[in-house]
Amino acid sequence: MQAKISALKQNAFNDIASAQDSNALEDCRIKWLGKKSETSQLLKGLKDVAPDQRPAVGALINDLKNEIESTINARRTEMEFEVISRQLEGEAIDVTLPGKRQGLGRVHPLTQTLDAVINIFHSLGFSVAEGPEIESEYYNFDALNIPTYHPARDMQDTFFLENGKLLRTHTSPVQIRVMENRTPPVRVIAPGRVYRNEAINARSYCLFHQVEGFYVDQKVTFAELKGVLGFFAQELFGKGTKIKLRPSYFPFTEPSLECDISCFLCHGSGCRVCKYSGWLEILGAGMIHPEVLKSAHYDPEKYQGYAFGMGIERITMLLYGINDIRLFFENDIRFLSQF
Ligand SMILES: [Zn+2]
Repeated sequence: MQAKISALKQNAFNDIASAQDSNALEDCRIKWLGKKSETSQLLKGLKDVAPDQRPAVGALINDLKNEIESTINARRTEMEFEVISRQLEGEAIDVTLPGKRQGLGRVHPLTQTLDAVINIFHSLGFSVAEGPEIESEYYNFDALNIPTYHPARDMQDTFFLENGKLLRTHTSPVQIRVMENRTPPVRVIAPGRVYRNEAINARSYCLFHQVEGFYVDQKVTFAELKGVLGFFAQELFGKGTKIKLRPSYFPFTEPSLECDISCFLCHGSGCRVCKYSGWLEILGAGMIHPEVLKSAHYDPEKYQGYAFGMGIERITMLLYGINDIRLFFENDIRFLSQF
């Protein structure tokens, strides 16, 4: 009888251990403890056992029932624990995984150049002034010695607005606006956006950035202008950069000049960027035309001044070897993240 009981116990335990879900476990309970189970059969067979052994065998069968019962309960607890562990595993945070990267913002390459230019002129005592981008014809042309019949008005393809105003074609109107409100000495740079009604291609865009600079006082000389431009070129393009001044024409300066710098890529020996000349054109300048001083009610007999203007896009393209101006305005992160 004892051998039978222990064989039955072993079978029941194996069965319970292999149950994979609560349904299988319930089947086990019915199979091993139900009315038709082998355990129940044993109890029924108790009447055939010799009376003196009956209590002992009865106790054994009861122990067997209890053991099967508690094994089933233990297996049920185990199953519940497995379910919870699987859930927790899904929700677990792996602190060793690298985090999601947040893209770090950068300063736009044009702003970087603009800041560098402004810093250089700050160090020379220039202060920054700004003016409106929507201008009148007076400030954009007339006050700058560009009368209606002047060919310069054709040279600059202008965006005219319906209200008779226009989008400024250069930052020079700021010069007039500042001079109107201040008495010399004035030493100002005016950075800002300007607009030209031009076909958009790799070399030109409908808007770009200029920095205008001017200095008006008594006894301002052309030599000072040359000195300032030379200092600027060395600060921005590196020590050893030479400048070359070529005669030019602008309606608002007299005499006018174009300023070239020695090519900082080939150091004068000639390369593709400087078109094998060894020189790069970077800005226009000159002594402020007496008519322009008069527009601001300055006496040209008493005051003189110089002015210069440069395109920030052109300088940035030279500095970084960029060959398409449109890249500045497309906001392509692959381009911008290189600066
Ligand atoms: Zn070169």
